[in-house]
Amino acid sequence: MMAVLFGTFLFCFGREKAVAARILNGNAIRDEIYGDLAGTVAALESAGVRPGLAAVLVGDNPASKLYVNSKIAACQKLGLNSLLLTPPATISTSDFLTLVAELNRRDDVDGILVQMPLPPQVDAKRILDAIEPAKDVDGFHPMNVGHLVAGRPTLVACTPAGVMEILRRSNIPIEGANAVVLGRSDIVGKPMALLLLHANATVTVCHSKTRDLAGHTRRADIVVAAMGRAAMITPDFIRPGATVIDVGQNVIKDAAQASQIFANFPDKLDSFRAKGSALVGDVHPDVVHVAGACTPVPGGVGPLTIAMLMSNTVKAAQLRRGSLAPAVRGARQSHA
Ligand code: NAP
Repeated sequence: MMAVLFGTFLFCFGREKAVAARILNGNAIRDEIYGDLAGTVAALESAGVRPGLAAVLVGDNPASKLYVNSKIAACQKLGLNSLLLTPPATISTSDFLTLVAELNRRDDVDGILVQMPLPPQVDAKRILDAIEPAKDVDGFHPMNVGHLVAGRPTLVACTPAGVMEILRRSNIPIEGANAVVLGRSDIVGKPMALLLLHANATVTVCHSKTRDLAGHTRRADIVVAAMGRAAMITPDFIRPGATVIDVGQNVIKDAAQASQIFANFPDKLDSFRAKGSALVGDVHPDVVHVAGACTPVPGGVGPLTIAMLMSNTVKAAQLRRGSLAPAVRGARQSHA
């Protein structure tokens, strides 16, 4: 197995020369996963199977369009079939359910992705619950969540599954580690905690009502931050040498906030000034001076989310046809 490791390097911090964390490069790990998937896709193709993803995009939300286009592009890159459905923004829950039922029936569709958010008149929960669990490549269906809780093979939410790939492919020890997950959402925090637990970490889940957050994180070997709070996790939250995975994606536009966050990163501050905005994680960039390994934003967890959607689509195609061969190396462990 080829771990994707990025060398420890020296940099200037104030007047001191300090050793920075190993940067866990999500783009390189995504490419490794695509390399693994290509072999599985070729084997399926020679057996007459071409996995297919159906994406449903409602309305004109530019971010949603961008996400869906990236997912379709990833399908094309990997040689998967893709189908884009764009019902009108006025669609009713009932018509949406009919559309989902049709996708559930189609044999050429292995994965169904409904891009959120949906218009207010659509009952999003009913739509997600109507997706056939075997085609639920986002891993949101209660049946798949239940399988995850029980440690059975299933389709797992893409972002936390991607975090597990980062940890495993970077040879970060998980078994016996103290892991702290910051955030308890259904799509990131909860499945993340379960995956770490199944990998034999000792897991603490923190949220907005947690007392003494830093007291918890300072005991952690692995911190996964998924709160949606720009640069909140500062170096004093982190035990020296810990692994820090930053799931957060926050767009900042405030110049004073950018000056504080990027005080030690003049290139990033220049880029903010040129663009008027910047994407930052939940982890303060200065954490790189304390952590042993960490993911950047952008280029860390983000690329893994689409990679795991592709992996889930291939896996769904295999599972529906009775093949349990893992689509990605290590996928069996990360789903059990
Ligand atoms: P969410 O549904 O808003 O959940 C946020 C969680 O963080 C909640 O459990 C909340 O606690 C907790 N939280 C909020 N403020 C906190 C604080 N000050 N201290 C401790 N906990 C706090 O968000 P999400 O959908 O899980 O997403 C989290 C972040 O990940 C966002 O920045 C999102 O953009 C990003 N994300 C990235 C990707 C990717 O591909 N990289 C994918 C999905 C999400 P309560 O439960 O008590 O409210």
